[in-house]
Amino acid sequence: MGVYNRAPLEVDRGRGARLWGKDGTEYLDCVQGISTNGLGHAHPVLVEAVKAQAEKLWHVSNIYKIPGQEELADKLVEASFADVVFFTNSGTEAVECALKTARKFHSANGQPERIDIYGFDGAFHGRTYGAINAAANPSYTEGFGPKMEGFHQLTWGDREALEAAFRAPTTAAVILEPVQGEGGCRETPVEELRWMRQMADETGVLLIFDEVQCGMGRTGKLWAHEWADMAPDIMAVAKALGGGFPIGACLASAHAAKGMTVGVHGSTFGGNPLAMAVGQAAFGAINTPEILSNVSEIAAYLKQQLNGLCERFPDVIVDVRGKGLLIGLKLVPNNRDFMGWARDEQHLLIAGGGDNCVRMLPPLNLTLDEAREAVERLERTCEFARTKMKAG
Ligand SMILES: *Cc1c(COP(=O)(O)O)cnc(C)c1O
Repeated sequence: MGVYNRAPLEVDRGRGARLWGKDGTEYLDCVQGISTNGLGHAHPVLVEAVKAQAEKLWHVSNIYKIPGQEELADKLVEASFADVVFFTNSGTEAVECALKTARKFHSANGQPERIDIYGFDGAFHGRTYGAINAAANPSYTEGFGPKMEGFHQLTWGDREALEAAFRAPTTAAVILEPVQGEGGCRETPVEELRWMRQMADETGVLLIFDEVQCGMGRTGKLWAHEWADMAPDIMAVAKALGGGFPIGACLASAHAAKGMTVGVHGSTFGGNPLAMAVGQAAFGAINTPEILSNVSEIAAYLKQQLNGLCERFPDVIVDVRGKGLLIGLKLVPNNRDFMGWARDEQHLLIAGGGDNCVRMLPPLNLTLDEAREAVERLERTCEFARTKMKAG
């Protein structure tokens, strides 16, 4: 189906932060499958995990105890607020499970009227019906039939409306990305996240965090909400969880998962042995002090350099935002044009984003030399953009 606006780049192979096209051109990849290859391309530990598991067992149904599934769940539980985990194949399925868990909780808790889910403008939660309704971005919902009942959108930053939502008697949950990804790298202030936790505790509303993009070390802590010293009740994770292999997970406290009993949810592929082997390897390699401190170090360097570019090219870059290695640059020129110039002129791959941003989502193990190179290529792209814009 013609649903993708594809770049004119036929890819062939990758290694670390490098990606090669079929024509042999080498690119510096600061997209990484949209923050999915947390360890870059073809990381040897992941390659080994796939190979070893591929020779042993690929897939069995969840009617059996699956090797690796409990181990990865235990690791996620140990490293988070959660008590239980459900494995999926994608981010949107993890979000779907989160939404279902929230509604089912209230139903099991004797309050089936609590069905309302509040999301925010600029959010992205994936492409299933639940996820597009939760984010309520018109370009993803239009033409797909009636809006699903019980989904509402709030304006990001409108605390009054959010408080009213928390206090409404039919509210089930509030869902947000602690740092928005697709929406343009907007970070919810830590005080706001703490206040949400308080409101949720007071009202019994469940707090769902979508950390599909900002989780798994991307911000320099394993989970983005750790910066606020608080935790949600339910959390969707995916993208870097599998290091490039399709894995998602919905994490929840035992309290929030109260309604998720035998038979109410399931998946054929979710948590299969091959996925779990790669997931364990990826989790073990990402959740280390070395990787997390590398993220903070490289992010601090990039932030300083990019702020410098923003000062020197105010006609090109108007804002640097995001957290850790989830970096957004709000541009004057069209972001798609800019991405094309970076790719074709400088062989630097960057992603688009809402609010006319481009995003840099390099691997979490990016070296300082690679970061320098990314800045140089970005600087030359800014120079190129300037001449392009002068030429009209
Ligand atoms: C990518 C993304 C999703 C959807 O993940 P898929 O694997 O594409 O279904 C959901 N939420 C956020 C924040 C994302 O960045």
